[in-house]
Amino acid sequence: MELSRLTIHELQEMIKKGETTSSDIVESVFKRIDAVEDKVRSYITLLRDSALEEAQQADREIKKGNIKTLSGIPIAVKDIMCTRGVRTTCGSRILHNYVPPYDSTVVMKLREAGAIFVGKANMDEFAMGSSTETSYFEITKNPWDLERIPGGSSGGSAAAVAADECIASLGSDTGGSIRQPAALCGVVGLKPTYGRVSRFGLIAFASSLDQIGPFTKDVEDCAILMNLIAGHDPMDSTSVPTSVPDYREYLSRGIAGWTVGIPKEYFIEGIDPEVSGAIEKAIKEIEGLGAKCIEVSLPHTDYCVAAYYIVAPAEASSNLARYDGVRYGLRSESGEGEDLLEMYKRTRSEGFGAEVKRRIMIGTYALSSGYYDAYYKKASQVRTLIKRDFEESFKKCDVILTPTTPTPAFKIGEKTDDPLQMYLSDIFTLSANLAGIPGISVPCGYTKAGLPIGLQLLAGHFEEGKLIQIASAYEKHSKTEKRRPEI
Ligand code: GLN
Repeated sequence: MELSRLTIHELQEMIKKGETTSSDIVESVFKRIDAVEDKVRSYITLLRDSALEEAQQADREIKKGNIKTLSGIPIAVKDIMCTRGVRTTCGSRILHNYVPPYDSTVVMKLREAGAIFVGKANMDEFAMGSSTETSYFEITKNPWDLERIPGGSSGGSAAAVAADECIASLGSDTGGSIRQPAALCGVVGLKPTYGRVSRFGLIAFASSLDQIGPFTKDVEDCAILMNLIAGHDPMDSTSVPTSVPDYREYLSRGIAGWTVGIPKEYFIEGIDPEVSGAIEKAIKEIEGLGAKCIEVSLPHTDYCVAAYYIVAPAEASSNLARYDGVRYGLRSESGEGEDLLEMYKRTRSEGFGAEVKRRIMIGTYALSSGYYDAYYKKASQVRTLIKRDFEESFKKCDVILTPTTPTPAFKIGEKTDDPLQMYLSDIFTLSANLAGIPGISVPCGYTKAGLPIGLQLLAGHFEEGKLIQIASAYEKHSKTEKRRPEI
């Protein structure tokens, strides 16, 4: 059995029993990377030397009996999270040479828990995209079909887990960027409640929507990583100072007596019949576990895409104003021009890709004087209505169940010329970010062509435990076979 195929909890057990070492695990992961990375392209930066060194150190500690939660476990991190001394590009040319002097809080927490960092995973530029095709560096391929996209924007983090190029990874989700690639790559992905996980050291896209969360091979690993990354951080004023439960305790509680809400607005025309078929099957299995499924309504669903594509670009245009070629990142190579403004213009024209420029333009327009009330303010009001829809529904049910995506992974290049089609691939995931609630995607089967399908579960604020509870019950009892991609 290749160690790279195993989960965190399986490897933890083996390490505790002395059946394997961190060096063996890390070597197994890099052997796998050597075999498949040329085809999959999950990583922007690989950290082979430091990982092997850290593994030896971990083994020395393990020998002394110092075993921590992630002692010796290889983890990948989306290249949007700052890593001290390790280039952090955010998938952009403008940050191609940026080496942060500090670790993001999540990276620090995983490091303290003993994790070994394998590399920085590929992503859409500044996390803007649903396919990882807007990365300045490369296109990540879906391990289940190398002609297809892995989803995005955390496509590298999802593909690396699916392809066993790491044991688990971290991504970020502003409108679906954890759940959508998790669904398309057949792994588990959780977006926590806004404020549950510190965003200190996460390069900002849309600050009122961004959250960091885990990609894992199963729900138990998801609980393990959530235990480590959740919690208040004085360095992030939006992180909430409430206590964090032990998410592992939710793993075997079952869901007898639960009510699961199925929002009628999410079963729309245009959803792939194989996706809806898999979701209907999952609903039956969940009923078989003792839950009652009822119809609920989220009447403002139709406005989610429009509201998101005002709020997110508006905040992005403001956040990205800092990339000006002065303190860090790219400065135009075509000379500095006549004055400061010329240098800014050249730097930003050369440094940002087309999708990022499109977002900056939409956002700047939406925030410009005279339009602010019509766009940003209006979108914020719609956001409140979307949040209320969920509050009303959660009075009637414990969790809400939907497909994660309307279709399985699409072909590379299929939607690059049609931004609206690309935006619509997040139609089921955006609402959770707008409402600030947590959501998880768990695998729920495959299409005839062998592409994974994801089931999305949503819960009220700070109810990640419930998501883990139902996802774990479903994962354990579902008759859906579990496959591995053949690369
Ligand atoms: N695909 C969405 C966008 O392009 C969401 C991206 C994300 O969650 N980072 O904005």
